[in-house]
Amino acid sequence: MKKKGLVSTCIILAVAIFMAVFTGISFSKKRNFVEDVVTAGSAVTKTVKLSTYNPNLAGSFGDVDIYVLEGAEPGGQVLILGGTHANEPAGHMAAIVMLEQFVPTKGTVYVIPDICKSGLSHNDPLEGTPQYLHFTTAGGETRTFHFGSRASNPIDQWPDPDTYLHTSGEWQPLNLPANAKTTQTLSGSEVRNQNRCYPGIANGTLTEKVSYAVTNMINTLKIDMVIDLHESSPEYAVNNAIVAHENAKEIASMAYSLNLEEQGMKFKIEPSPISLRGLTHRELGDYTDAFALLCEVGNPSQGRFRGFTDETLAITGKDPCYKVASEIHDGKLLYVDYSSGDFPISLRVARHVAAVAALVEEMGFEYPEKEILIDNIPDVEEMIETDDLGLWLR
Ligand SMILES: [Zn+2]
Repeated sequence: MKKKGLVSTCIILAVAIFMAVFTGISFSKKRNFVEDVVTAGSAVTKTVKLSTYNPNLAGSFGDVDIYVLEGAEPGGQVLILGGTHANEPAGHMAAIVMLEQFVPTKGTVYVIPDICKSGLSHNDPLEGTPQYLHFTTAGGETRTFHFGSRASNPIDQWPDPDTYLHTSGEWQPLNLPANAKTTQTLSGSEVRNQNRCYPGIANGTLTEKVSYAVTNMINTLKIDMVIDLHESSPEYAVNNAIVAHENAKEIASMAYSLNLEEQGMKFKIEPSPISLRGLTHRELGDYTDAFALLCEVGNPSQGRFRGFTDETLAITGKDPCYKVASEIHDGKLLYVDYSSGDFPISLRVARHVAAVAALVEEMGFEYPEKEILIDNIPDVEEMIETDDLGLWLR
């Protein structure tokens, strides 16, 4: 009997060691995988480390590159953030497409495609999502990108508190609306949500340090507009939308009615709620003078109705469960038109590219001194028609 128990124990121990080694190698590979952003042949004039704007980030996992695309003529400045939520790949990929394709002739475009690099370095437990996405370029080269988690990696900050008390740290508000509060209590895991940690704390958690650097960068460089690129579940109400701080409401409305709607792109313009703290469209409008905006697009690989989740779903957005959801209850279960039965990443990235181009153009119309002119903006109609995102990567 004793011998039998010993044998069972040894077998269980061997299986446990095998699983720990197997998953450990997979975790380690993902954590250390470096994406190949291609700047050769692009309009990137220099890269600057994010720690320039928060020295406490120096050498840490959050010390990412800021890609700077300077036009020959001085003008306005825009900052584009991708990868805030690393399980929303169109935001991350759209930022990479823009930094590899945009050619500003006037003004400056700053792009940070992996603002939550920590989130890109792991996956959400129990969600069964893919670890990577692959695209083939026009030259036939395969390029690999992270599919990550909504939150920063616990390796970088652990454990989560029971409750997360969001504060604005040392920042003094510039445009805080009267009657707005500056603190908020959130569930503990939100402490690793990049988009709940603005305006950031200089020596806080890694996530707070990154947010602090972004706020400080905008104030130091006097950046005129910041656009944060996201995706959301098709059943989430704020979808296919531009969320605008009060200071950017006019620009968002005009960009939609004069430009995006003309192109046949439906966007909802949503006001940034005053009581929802920590988000880019709220805090970066309150604590900097930039026009603060956030773009959302529907992502079937993210929602709770989704079926089997793999790289194909993340790229094609084709899910039979969402198709059913779109056909019952008069389609009221979803906030996006899913009648086509898919929502491919080429379309999702195209919507982000179109929104950024329209918002930047509208800022130049309303404020000529902030004008930014950009050549080589991908043709979004062609991007949607060809349905092959790899063609828009270098
Ligand atoms: Zn998001």
